[in-house]
Amino acid sequence: MTRKFFVGGNWKMNGDFASVDGIVAFLNQSADNGSVDVVVAPPAPYLAYAKANLKAGVLVAAQNCYKVAKGAFTGEISPAMIKDLGLEWVILGHSERRHVFGESDALIAEKTVHALESGIKVIFCIGEKLEEREAGHTKDVNFRQLQAIVDKGVSWENIVIAYEPVWAIGTGKTASPEQAQEVHEWIRQFLKEKVSPAVADATRIIYGGSVTADNAAELGKKPDIDGFLVGGASLKPDFVKIINARS
Ligand code: PGA
Repeated sequence: MTRKFFVGGNWKMNGDFASVDGIVAFLNQSADNGSVDVVVAPPAPYLAYAKANLKAGVLVAAQNCYKVAKGAFTGEISPAMIKDLGLEWVILGHSERRHVFGESDALIAEKTVHALESGIKVIFCIGEKLEEREAGHTKDVNFRQLQAIVDKGVSWENIVIAYEPVWAIGTGKTASPEQAQEVHEWIRQFLKEKVSPAVADATRIIYGGSVTADNAAELGKKPDIDGFLVGGASLKPDFVKIINARS
């Protein structure tokens, strides 16, 4: 089966109205590429503004959300609110949420279930730290992070898996196409064994970690790399080249 290429832009905690206008302008000027799903994730205060100004072909995601619809959870936003803004996607389990804010596999799994049940699609991020890779634990860590949602019996059609080795995020040390492909292939095999061959075949597994316009084409040639989650480079006009890396 052909999986539609998926390119996400994770703006993290960057920007202001002026820079959002700049990003919106280069995205809106880009030629429509119907063979790629493009989803950008501005910081929460700019979600509605980005949505209102981006052309229809560019979707907007939240960078995070909590595990219930509403209540006394100061500082959090819910999938219900994301939906109320007319948005369809959220990023969950990003390594900065896991390692800077201490989110556990269990919490991320609960958030994933709640987002999906609320009708929001999930870019579910996993990835090992450098010391885990060096200790030979890459497979175990990624499988453990995935198992947390497999155990919940989630419905996979609205999940994109983002493999983002922590050592590659924001460091300029991109995984080589071979390193990324190896882990993507393991992940697909894991889905085949733990969920089903159909889910393994259909689920997009995208790569994140220092993706640039220069390395995207080589990474995108690998059979199990179905797109990218891009941080720093998604703030610059070169992001359009990454969107078109496979065209
Ligand atoms: P980077 O970030 O492209 O700046 O390495 C990727 C991410 O954190 O999603």
